[in-house]
Amino acid sequence: MAKSIVDSHAHLGWDSFKEDRNEVIERAFASGISQIVQAGVDFNGLPECLQIAERYPNIWNGVGLHPHEAKHWDGNSADIIRDAFKHKSIVAIGECGLDYYYDHSERDVQISVFKEQVKLAKELNKPLIIHSRDAWQETFEVLKTTGKGEVRGVFHCFTGGPAQIPEIKDLDFYVSFSGILTFKSAKDIQAAAPLVADDRFLLETDSPYLAPEGKRGKRNEPSFIWITAEKLAALRGASLEETAEKASRNTRALFALAESIN
Ligand SMILES: [Zn+2]
Ligand SMILES: [Zn+2]
Repeated sequence: MAKSIVDSHAHLGWDSFKEDRNEVIERAFASGISQIVQAGVDFNGLPECLQIAERYPNIWNGVGLHPHEAKHWDGNSADIIRDAFKHKSIVAIGECGLDYYYDHSERDVQISVFKEQVKLAKELNKPLIIHSRDAWQETFEVLKTTGKGEVRGVFHCFTGGPAQIPEIKDLDFYVSFSGILTFKSAKDIQAAAPLVADDRFLLETDSPYLAPEGKRGKRNEPSFIWITAEKLAALRGASLEETAEKASRNTRALFALAESIN
């Protein structure tokens, strides 16, 4: 089986890739990545992300307001999200959610802006990319009260443990593992890795953040996803190829991605 994988979460439009973006993307594809999903964090960065996707048809986009940016939500925001779906590269709403670790926006503002985006996911029937940090109960609460059974999505860059898996299963959401999975200190995340069903796990880099073990401290890039994939395969007692194949199939199913174009 040829090595192939999807990076379900990256930020290639950011300035960290300004100097060598095309090289990074070419390296990603050369390493066996077939498709990449870029998550949106604000609306200012959207044009750059759309341009990248126009140049590379195997790159897809989310649109949404990150919890750090929640204070910037205004009367136009919902329409910006609705309109963005006219572009065929837009496949998801997010990343959105709650971040009580950094608290860059007030918590009540984070909650109301998250709810708005969950409602839009329901209205537009699109999947959510969820960012949740130090706010598990509150995140579950919003998803249960505002969208349970009516929205689908992924907990990106999973930083929980076995304790969160039953609730995530109950919501029927996906779990995405980032480079953090490879850190020696990540015992809880590693313990959760085999508990996620075969058809509910994804892999991601969250580039330029969170470079995996062996690359720590460096700028992360999609081609480093293989280090995380190898770790996940070992934790699940499966082969690298099989693990990568399942993560790719799950990502395509969640985001309804077309097959990659060679
Ligand atoms: Zn995030
Ligand atoms: Zn992200």
